[in-house]
Amino acid sequence: MAIFKDINSLRHWRQSLRGPLALVPTMGNLHDGHLALVKLAATRAEQVLVSIYVNPLQFGPREDFANYPRTLGRDLQRLHDAGCQTVFTPDDGLMYPRGRQDISIVMPPRSLSKVLCGASRPGHFAGVCTVLGKLLHIVAPEILLLGEKDYQQLRIVQQMVADLNLNVQVLPGPLQREADGLAYSSRNTFLNPAERQVAPLLAQTLFDLARRSTSAADIASLTTEGWERLEQAGFLPDYLELCDAQTLQALDVPQPDARWFGAARLGQTRLIDNVIVP
Ligand code: AMP
Repeated sequence: MAIFKDINSLRHWRQSLRGPLALVPTMGNLHDGHLALVKLAATRAEQVLVSIYVNPLQFGPREDFANYPRTLGRDLQRLHDAGCQTVFTPDDGLMYPRGRQDISIVMPPRSLSKVLCGASRPGHFAGVCTVLGKLLHIVAPEILLLGEKDYQQLRIVQQMVADLNLNVQVLPGPLQREADGLAYSSRNTFLNPAERQVAPLLAQTLFDLARRSTSAADIASLTTEGWERLEQAGFLPDYLELCDAQTLQALDVPQPDARWFGAARLGQTRLIDNVIVP
């Protein structure tokens, strides 16, 4: 297995490649959602590179950067078992050699980045776009794999790639779920056993809203119903919204190409999920 920790050796390897390269950027603590992206990448490109880097720039001051699960040894083993041979594991010194203040950043469009998660996580998507901009320049992949679990991130990065004329194809991977419907997430490891039992209700609520919103005239009362259901189960909802899947703007009447988006805290853990309207 080749584990690159610096830019020169990575670029040297990259230049030796013949066929297309797919990049799967992650923050580690890999689960089956990540591995599905790696497998999808392998069907589209000759070579797959997985990056593992917990990007401090995308965490707010009161968020879980310090506690974010870091499980590099196990991650490398999982990738090895899945047949992935190349990994990029930069550190903060490599990614932000001048620190994180007063650096050039990539600012995503307001309309996409101030809604949903962006409303309660100021600066988050600028941090995501900046690190992905850097990774794309360092790695120069032909294909970039992003999961629909972070659907807002996917839309923002698609827009960044278009706006900045980046020469990469963004390939979305379907959202992967546990058997009980809970979306795989690195943060699920924070859930205690009681919370883990309740957690699938977020997905169940979104699926229920998606099914009923096709015929419902009143999206607002559906939303209230879903919100109360989550609160009664012990969630602290952040948002529950039907949005246009392209513009991410909230909808008050059903339309084609819409998605339900939800984010809610369960104990110390913030869960997000989204479901397409059938
Ligand atoms: P993360 O390590 O959380 O930054 O995620 C890395 C990539 O994996 C992102 O493109 C995520 O959208 C994707 N991802 C995370 N969880 C899932 C999931 N349950 N299903 C599909 N993709 C996922």
